[in-house]
Amino acid sequence: MLVFEAKVGRKGMSKNPQEQKMQSLVSLCRRRAFIFQSSEIYGGLNGCWDYGPLGVELKRNIKELWWKDTVLSRTDVEGVDCSILMNSKVWEASGHVQSFTDPMVDCLQCRGRFRADHIVNNQCPTCGSKNKFTEVRHFNLMFKTHVGALEDSSSVAYLRPETCQGIFANFDNIVNTCRVKVPFGIAQIGKAFRNEINPRNFTFRSREFEQMEMEFFCNPSEAPKWFQYWKDERYDWYLKYGIKKERLHLREHAKDELAHYAAGCADIEYDFPFGCAELEGIANRTDYDLKRHSEFSKKDLSYFDQGLNQRYFPYVIEPSAGADRATLAFLVDAYEEEAERTVLRFHPRIAPIKAAVFPLVNKDGMPETAEQIFNTLKKRWNTFYDDKGAVGRRYRRQDEAGTPFCITVDGETSKDQAVTIRHRDSMAQDRIAMDKVVEYLAKYLEA
Ligand code: ATP
Repeated sequence: MLVFEAKVGRKGMSKNPQEQKMQSLVSLCRRRAFIFQSSEIYGGLNGCWDYGPLGVELKRNIKELWWKDTVLSRTDVEGVDCSILMNSKVWEASGHVQSFTDPMVDCLQCRGRFRADHIVNNQCPTCGSKNKFTEVRHFNLMFKTHVGALEDSSSVAYLRPETCQGIFANFDNIVNTCRVKVPFGIAQIGKAFRNEINPRNFTFRSREFEQMEMEFFCNPSEAPKWFQYWKDERYDWYLKYGIKKERLHLREHAKDELAHYAAGCADIEYDFPFGCAELEGIANRTDYDLKRHSEFSKKDLSYFDQGLNQRYFPYVIEPSAGADRATLAFLVDAYEEEAERTVLRFHPRIAPIKAAVFPLVNKDGMPETAEQIFNTLKKRWNTFYDDKGAVGRRYRRQDEAGTPFCITVDGETSKDQAVTIRHRDSMAQDRIAMDKVVEYLAKYLEA
């Protein structure tokens, strides 16, 4: 993929093993329909990506597990799904209109445009020339549009650059309709848009992406406790679904890195082939957002705590994750090249296809039996049927897709009413009675 190639490594330089790994993963993503360039037939659109049949299942599994673990399995978090376009006062109150900017410089040699804070040793990341940059300018990252037929200042709207402001704007609605009591959270998954100066590293820095955010409202005195709680919860979440611990880091922000309103912030970072980078941020946002929205909307968003008989503005602990960055981390983490095969070792809960069914020889009623098993499994899990080519090749194709189980119906099946289940990672094979296959797989897929 040329767009990606141009962004890893400097032109004319040979790639290091990490760059090669990334390059191979990007081509696997394209070849096996995980991720395509957006509008590829027109040359693409920088910073935008499309998920193909395997990619959409992978990303959906990640979002659904986040939703299940953050909202459905808890009694103290409610979900919302807010509009992308909001009254532009929201973005004045949040501070985005005034200060959601990145510092930008252009290279005078190759005309490349970069974030000033991404330049190392005053050297251009594209052409390598030194000290040849324009002055730093500040660039607002919000996409601006107009609502309705008139394009004047009164119709300005923005594509939301983060999902959490919809949550703050609905704080009162949830308090008044859902019988929630502090401490409680409101969660949302949805698209966010940022006109990034230099989208790069595949889907890592995109202009259109999805966030998984939760605002947890608590008594100010309990904020440090909940901040620690959510850092632990969120770090463990990635481990639970198979991310390797040695590649996952929790980095506490230094005081001078903190946003002016934040009392604490930590990033969950992952060792990507292009470097260690942020997957998720967990911040103690204090009472900044509710106070600002109270001020700008003239609606009192303070909370009356009946237990304490006290009115106050709750503090907010925010774990804010990117669904696309998480998807990329799960892909990188699962990717392995072995002598005989390339394999994606996804956790079974993350894997886009859960099982593949192969009739081994096309005779003796085998396809009918295989189809029967396929139809049973398909009702419950995303299952793939493949009756083409040598079985070794069929295994390889599923290894590359990250399918944890392959089930073969062979010459013995009609005699012993059993099938062979082959495990992707160990390649070990178990002989299982046909009527026990669902039970057997459920142990792994629903554990
Ligand atoms: P960065 O420093 O990498 O620009 P950020 O600190 O601005 O990220 P936040 O505003 O904290 O990011 O957004 C929360 C999460 O949203 C990030 O941790 C990341 O997972 C995701 N995210 C932010 N910007 C992008 C982007 N351009 N492309 C993909 N995901 C993004």
